[in-house]
Amino acid sequence: MKILVVDDSKLARKSLMKSVLEVEPGVEFFEAENGAIAVELFKQENPRVVFLDLTMPVMDGYEALAKIMEIDSDAQVIVVSADIQEEAQKRVLEGGAKRMCPKPINAEKMQNIFMHDLII
Ligand SMILES: [Mg+2]
Repeated sequence: MKILVVDDSKLARKSLMKSVLEVEPGVEFFEAENGAIAVELFKQENPRVVFLDLTMPVMDGYEALAKIMEIDSDAQVIVVSADIQEEAQKRVLEGGAKRMCPKPINAEKMQNIFMHDLII
C-alpha cells in the first residue's frame, strides 16, 4: 500500500511514518516537503492515503487538499496539523479531508484512524 506523507518538517514526517508502520507494516512511503511536490506525487503514485500538514512553504495544505480532491474526489486525506482550531477543522473537512488530527500522532491514534477513518 502506498502512503504519501506531506510535511515541511522532516522530523514530523519520520515520526508519522514510524506510527504508521506500527499499525500497518509493509507500507510504501512517499514524502513531500510542500503541497506542490505532494500534488505531483499524488498524480504519479495514486497513494491510498495522504497525511497532510497545513502550514508549509510553496503550497500550503489547504491548496494541496483542493488540488488532490480535484484529481480524485475519492482521495483519502488525513490532515495532521498543530492548528486544530475549529475554523481550520471546518475548512479541511468541507474541503474533503476524512479527518483532522493534532500533531503528533502516536501509534494508538494511528490505529484509530486506520480502523475508523480509512478504507484500506
Ligand atoms: Mg508545517
